[in-house]
Amino acid sequence: MLGFTRETRIKILTAPIIGNTPIRKCEFLSSRYHSNIYIKEEFHNPGMSAKDRPAYYMIQDAINRNCISPGGTFVEASSGNTGLGIAMFAKQYGYRSKIFVSKSCSQEKIAILEAAGAEIEICDNSNGLGDFYSTQFKAQSYAATQPNAYFTNQYYNSQNIRAHYKTTGPEIWKQTDGQITHFLCGVGTGGTISGVGRYLKEQRPNVNIWGVEPAGSILQHYLDARSIPEQIAPFESIEGIGRNFVPGSFDPTPVDHIYQVTQEDTKTMARAYRTDTGILCGFSSAAVLACLQRYATGMHLKPTDTLVLLFPDHGSRYISKLYSETPKSVAHA
Ligand code: PMP
Repeated sequence: MLGFTRETRIKILTAPIIGNTPIRKCEFLSSRYHSNIYIKEEFHNPGMSAKDRPAYYMIQDAINRNCISPGGTFVEASSGNTGLGIAMFAKQYGYRSKIFVSKSCSQEKIAILEAAGAEIEICDNSNGLGDFYSTQFKAQSYAATQPNAYFTNQYYNSQNIRAHYKTTGPEIWKQTDGQITHFLCGVGTGGTISGVGRYLKEQRPNVNIWGVEPAGSILQHYLDARSIPEQIAPFESIEGIGRNFVPGSFDPTPVDHIYQVTQEDTKTMARAYRTDTGILCGFSSAAVLACLQRYATGMHLKPTDTLVLLFPDHGSRYISKLYSETPKSVAHA
């Protein structure tokens, strides 16, 4: 501790620079899929993920509405990325953080969260988020029983969609000079696809908004049938995406389709992409690539189309899960 008071810290650190992340054309994918394919690189955010955006919006909203007073504790249930955003911004504004993390979270993310000063508790989400031992349940009960604690609750906080509606969507529209025809991203809380989708559809109603989730997750079924499947079984995890309930932060209105990919195809794709481009992409970014590879034929992309893929974070968070095996080229994937 350098001995700064909360007031001095706030003066030293002006508002964090979040967003305005670069968008880059991927020549490799563009020529492979005969279209203009761009990647929105969200790992350029201060906490190195897209989730800095909702984390910052949720914290600001709670402070502005006097839901928490200085020195209080922000509480979140997170697969790591939102947790890091909360931990970082909470600290910068003079608050504490308590993050409930699923045991399936990568070692790298847990280490980063601890290093950022968050108090963390590892939970078991295998019986769903309604279960007594889940991250969501524990975060909720912790915030309800501790004095001056506020549960940001990314799954049910309207600031989650709002952050992407106000920032990610407009950035993508501007960065593609309004040429975007298709948007594809992973779906977890649903905040990204709902916020970006809502903004882009307001600009161009016939833009295609597509999501990706792990096989066995229920949002594809929910989008198509507007009901919950009768059988909800555990599914193989792809960190950050896939749900066995419908989050309040998922608005199906702007979403045209949700694709499903397997964990195995996603892992294979991550390694293949690394081999072919030298880039270590994150787990859910690899799911987006696996989706493109698996469903490209039915997507009917044209050379005049502009498809934006959202990469929420970086492969350095998943070395132990994705990149510790021998690489294989995408041509053989
Ligand atoms: N990918 C990663 C790595 C994430 O952390 C998240 C957030 N859970 C997502 C994708 C999904 O984003 P969203 O919650 O906005 O649907």
